[in-house]
Amino acid sequence: MTAPELLVDVGVASVRRLGRFDATARCSCGWSGRRRLLVAAAEQDAWAHAMRDSCEVSTPLVLDW
Ligand SMILES: [Zn+2]
Repeated sequence: MTAPELLVDVGVASVRRLGRFDATARCSCGWSGRRRLLVAAAEQDAWAHAMRDSCEVSTPLVLDW
């Protein structure tokens, strides 16, 4: 489901890898998670947020910045 009109009111969560031990989950709905040492922990934040708030997770989930 990638129709643009469906993404308007659904947030898309992704993980931004900012450094070797610094990753943060964020969502286009405005939510952002805690800074994590492990990318996997930030990924869990993104999934947990998507479950709680009916957002989607982005593909790919982890983005390098
Ligand atoms: Zn969201």
